[in-house]
This record gives sequence, C-alpha cells and structure tokens, in this order.
Amino acid sequence: MADLRFNVIEEAFKKKALNVMAPSERPSEYYGKYVFNRETMYKYLDVKTYDALISCMDNGTPLDRKVADKVADGMSAWAKEMGVTHYTHWFQPLTEGTAEKHDAFIEHDGKGGVIEEFSGKLLVQQEPDASSFPNGGIRNTFEARGYSAWDPTSPAFIVGDTLCIPTIFIAYTGESLDYKAPLLKALDAVNKAATDVCKLFDPNVKKVFPYLGWEQEYFLIDEGLYAARPDLLMTGRTLMGHESAKNQQMDDHYFGAIPERVAAFMKELEIESHKLGIPVKTRHNEVAPNQFELAPIFEEANLANDHNQLIMSVMKRIARKHGFRVLLHEKPFKGVNGSGKHNNWSLGTDTGVLLLAPSKTPMGNLQFVTFLVNVMMAVYKHNGLLKASISSATNAHRLGANEAPPAIVSIFLGKQMSEVLDAIESNPSDTEINVLDKKGKKLDIMQIPELLIDNTDRNRTSPFAFTGNRFEFRAVGSTANCAASMIVLNAAVADQLKDFKMAVDKAMVAGKSLEVAIIDILKGYIEECKPIRFDGNGYSDEWKVEAAKRGLDCETSVPLIIDRYLSDSAIGMFRRTGVLTEVELEARNEVKWEQYAKMIQIESRVLEDMSKNHIIPVATRYQTSLLENVSMMKDVFPDKYAELSAADMEIIEKIAFHSAQIKAEVRAMVNARKDANKLTHERAKAIAYHDEVSPYLDSIRYHIDKLELIVDNQIWPLPKYRELLFIR
Ligand code: ADP
Ligand code: MG
Repeated sequence: MADLRFNVIEEAFKKKALNVMAPSERPSEYYGKYVFNRETMYKYLDVKTYDALISCMDNGTPLDRKVADKVADGMSAWAKEMGVTHYTHWFQPLTEGTAEKHDAFIEHDGKGGVIEEFSGKLLVQQEPDASSFPNGGIRNTFEARGYSAWDPTSPAFIVGDTLCIPTIFIAYTGESLDYKAPLLKALDAVNKAATDVCKLFDPNVKKVFPYLGWEQEYFLIDEGLYAARPDLLMTGRTLMGHESAKNQQMDDHYFGAIPERVAAFMKELEIESHKLGIPVKTRHNEVAPNQFELAPIFEEANLANDHNQLIMSVMKRIARKHGFRVLLHEKPFKGVNGSGKHNNWSLGTDTGVLLLAPSKTPMGNLQFVTFLVNVMMAVYKHNGLLKASISSATNAHRLGANEAPPAIVSIFLGKQMSEVLDAIESNPSDTEINVLDKKGKKLDIMQIPELLIDNTDRNRTSPFAFTGNRFEFRAVGSTANCAASMIVLNAAVADQLKDFKMAVDKAMVAGKSLEVAIIDILKGYIEECKPIRFDGNGYSDEWKVEAAKRGLDCETSVPLIIDRYLSDSAIGMFRRTGVLTEVELEARNEVKWEQYAKMIQIESRVLEDMSKNHIIPVATRYQTSLLENVSMMKDVFPDKYAELSAADMEIIEKIAFHSAQIKAEVRAMVNARKDANKLTHERAKAIAYHDEVSPYLDSIRYHIDKLELIVDNQIWPLPKYRELLFIR
C-alpha cells in the first residue's frame, strides 16, 4: 500500500518542466485567433449582415432569421477553415461548470449521403436532451424540453475541433434553467436604471456597461499524488491530513519565484487564453504553498463571466498536459488559505465615464457619490441575499470559518470616502468647494481631489471593498460561477437606482433643484445604510457581535442562508427588475439545497470508505507490530519489559483510542446520513446534512489526523500535506 505513496512521490519529484515553445508570433498577432470576433465577422459576413449583428450586440436590436442564416454561413465557413468538424451550444446549467453536446456539421443529403451543413436554425436554437440537468422540478422529465438559445453578445469560439456557441438555457415554459439568462436580464436592468440616472448629469449617455474583472485563485498539485488521494479525486478537497510543519507561516510563497514546472504551465495557459480572446494579464503565487492566481483585464460582465467559465476548463486541460491537476475547490487543505474569486465590479458609460471613480469636476463627483451611495444602499438592503449568492457547501469552508472573509457582508470604504460621506451627512452645506446651480445659487458639493483614492488603505478582511474605481466582492468562491453574485448585485443596484431616480423626480416636481434634490436624498441614504459600513477587522469576534447588533445578516448555516432568495425583499426585487420570477427562485433554491446535501453526502461516504479501508487497517497493522514488540520484550526481558516498553504501550493505547473513536463516529455518521436521506423535502434534507452529518466530517478527521502523527510513516497509505503542498 505504502509503496504506491512512495512511488508517486518519487515520480512527482523527478518531473521536469515541459518545454513550452512560445509561438513565433507576438500575443497581439495570435490574440483572439479562435474567436469569431468583430474582425473575423467583418471578413466572413457581408456588410449588411455584419451591421445587423453588431447592432444586435451593441444595442440589443433583434436579429431576424434570415440574418441569422447568413451569420451561420459565415461562422461555419470560418470554422471549417480552422479545421473544425463539430459545433456545440455551450451553456451554463445550475451545476458547476459548463455543458456542451457536440454535433457534427453533417446532415442527410437526401440521396443516401451527407452534406456539411450548419444553418441559422441550428445556430439560434437547439433542444438539448437535457432532462438530467438540475431544474428544481420546473421541467418534469416527461415534458423534458429545454431550449438553448444563442447569445449573440458573446462571440463564438473554437476549442479543439469544435465550434462553441454561447447560449442561454431555458425551460419549454420559458423559465431560466441556467446562469446566463438571468445574468443577461440583470445586466439589462442595471443598464436601463443606471442610464436613466446618468441622464440627470449628462443627457448624452445612452448606455451603461456593467464591468467585471475576476481574479481566479487555484492550487496545483502533481497528478500522481492527486490520484493517490481518493478524497481529492472525489470531493476536490482533502478530508484528512495533518498540517505540514511548515506551510504558509513564513510568508515565503506570496509573490515568490514561480517554480519552473508551474511557470511552464502558466505560460501555456496564457497563450491558450489569449488565443481564445481572454485578456489574461496577471499571474502570481498566492499566500499558500502551491496556490496561484490568474486575472485578466476587466471586460463587460457577461463576456467576462463566459471567459471565467471557459478558463476554468482550459486550466484543467492544460494542467493535465503538465502532469498537474488544478484544484479549484475553495478549501482543498486545512490550515492553509483557501481560494476565492474576487469579483471586481463597476459601471461605465458609453461616453467613457467610470461611474464609481472620482472625477475632476464637482458635478462629476456628485455623480460618482450618487452611484457609490446607491450601491451601498443596494448592498445594505440585500446583504443577506448577496451572502446567499456566494454560499455553497464548498465556500462554507472559507466564509465564517476563521478565514477571510467573514459570513457577514459589509462594505469597506476607506478613510477618504468615509470622510466625504460623513461630511455630506453631518452638514451638506459645509464642504470645501462650491458650485452654482442653474439659478446661480451657491451649492456645496464636495471636491474629491484627483488620485486621492488609492489602494493604500486596503482592507483584506472586508468581503465587499471599495478600491478606488470599483467595488471588489471578495467573498466569492473559487469554484463559483461569477454570474450567481453578479445577478444579485446588478439586479439589486438596478432596483435601488430606480428608487433613487423616482425620488429625485419627485423632489424636483416639488420644486427642488437637481443638485439639492440629489444631495438631500443621498444624505438620507447615507444615514440609512450606515450599518453596512465597516472598515475594521472583519475576522474579529467583536465584529460578529457588533454586526448582529446592527441587524446585518449573521447566519452561518448554508441551507438557511439560501432561504434569503425567498425573502419578501428578494422576491420583490427580482420581480420588479424582471430578473427572476418567484417560480424560478423556488426551483433554483431546490437545486441549491439538493446540491448542498449531495456534496456533504459524497464527502461523508468518501470519509467512511477511507476510514474503513485506508486508516483503520493501517492503524491496526502498526498497533499489532507494536504489540508484538512488547510481547517479545516480555519474553526477552521478563523483569524490565514494562519499563522498556512504556512508550510503546502509550502509543498502543492512543491508537486503540483513536481507532475506536473513528469506528464509533463513522457508525454514528452513517446513521445520521440514513436519517437525512429519509427526508423528502430538499430544504429539510440539506439542513439535516448540515446539522447532523457534517459535524462528523470534522470530528472523524480529528482522530485520523492524530493517527497520522503516530503511525509509522513507512506504511501510511496517503500522501501527506508536506508532500502534496510543495511542488519542486
Ligand atoms: P489586485 O491588486 O486586487 O490584484 P488588480 O489591479 O490586479 O487588483 O485588478 C484586479 C482585477 O480588477 C483585474 O481583473 C482588473 O482588470 C480589474 N479591474 C480594474 N479596474 C476595474 C474596474 N473599473 N471595473 C472592474 N474591474 C476592474
Ligand atoms: Mg483584488
């Protein structure tokens, strides 16, 4: 048994970096090579078709079927030239990752042969046999029709021999069964609401873009070691493993030199990403050993999210080539940092203004503060829902589990912006710079000097931080589909901006000037949403107490956090913005609860198997060898054996104790699982798995980790943390 462990360790340490040849061209030449982007469209589509498609992408004008046919012709001509033989509708079901079903470009020619064909019909809509995707009961299997429908705003791309067409996935009855459909609705809602508000400041604004820049953290691990760990293989995390004597306490990994093997992987990943039009820019080591980060330049949110979904699968593929496995799990290893996916989010106009960045003019700054405060209000009103949007069985290991960020959503503003808001709140007419309103009346609007806001006072413990020209939602999990949080954030902000606009209109009808109306309303908001502001240490116990006093959502149980989607405020907000109906929310919650229970069920089964098949047999074997030793000592040294074997006796007792505990707790866990499985309601089942089953995962692990420290290293069957965590 142990031979396997030593063989894989030896193999892992012998591995050399692959020689990744950089392409002879420069990134600017191969960038977007596999994307049906504007440049390629221009080449393969006639002018009328091109214009219609661009107008559809930029302004949302509908595409008629004839145009779609022509787009399909151009797209397939390009794809075939690229050596592509298959196409797929690429969509994002409510599971982790993406789904695709590949079809060849062939149709019957009516004469017994085939012709290569790809029509507008196939481009625009398909009916994948998708009854097995989670749908929360919306779509019964007997009427198992779901449609995937083309999203023309995200360009098609090629992976291997397949043309991938980004699509939404909806039920026969119209409900969303995926992440992309509600995301597109939320982005549209925030565009409309924000544009209306922008028009108060600049009538030329026609569109507002929500932007997303994600930062993806991940671990790499040698594939041989990975294969020797059933827990990693089945659950994505280690269910056991004593902490390595050295892990991240020396802070020597963060921004340290990237190991050669890893650098070769990163280089190839970057080249492939660039070919797919993903603007990857940053790569570096993260805090924990073997942990890394990758970030692109931010993009329009829908595209950015598609790119994140795509890159997660590209990473997995390229890692295999280099003899690695990528661990995207939020907490693969106990005792070292977990992985998140910071979602940097902002709004920008078609006139080139970033709405969450300070400006040079007082009116520009009033607009900035307007958006800043409205976002804060949205986050305040829906703090529980935002937490729900990032909560999962896997991210629960980070949130509220003594690691960044806490299971409480609060906003970090930094000193300067806090002062600006405090000034408005305390006395809106006592600020530094005065401007005149249209009637020549003196109006006081704070001036925020250029570049005043920098990243110096960043707060790493805040789940939602203002970072100078954007908000950074840091609590998002590394496996997550960013759309989950982006749906909630953009919809909540849209709803809030609509309220704000109505309040401004009303105040102006009542005779207030625009500026005075805005400042008055903001002053009220700043007072109201004060509880969401927290610049202190989010990890501290004092904050938990304080946050509860402030009425922020402090729930830590994932199945209960998921309830927030069905609160009156959430249902109302989603209905008003047209993003999700109550039926959809209920169905999606069923899926979330079901996934939660299944995840814990799988972990519990794997832990049961490993306890019985790996740990107990090895512990018993070692115990037996010690017993034999003691017994032989007794034969050889009948008078002194007790003294001489005292240490062994102590270890034998410890092994016996921990083994007995493991056996008893595994038995209890299995019973708890059986009871949970009897529950038919998904919510009740998830709660039972959280309350009754998951505690055993920790307590059983405790005893296994103790055994790891005492049992002979030679026979311990699993690669240990010190072996898993250090790539040479
Ligand atoms: P960090 O110091 O947090 O690693 P970076 O400068 O590397 O920050 O940026 C992180 C991400 O934020 C990148 O994807 C970047 O493109 C993105 N980003 C920067 N500005 C904005 C913005 N205004 N809106 C959205 N994302 C942004
Ligand atoms: Mg960041």
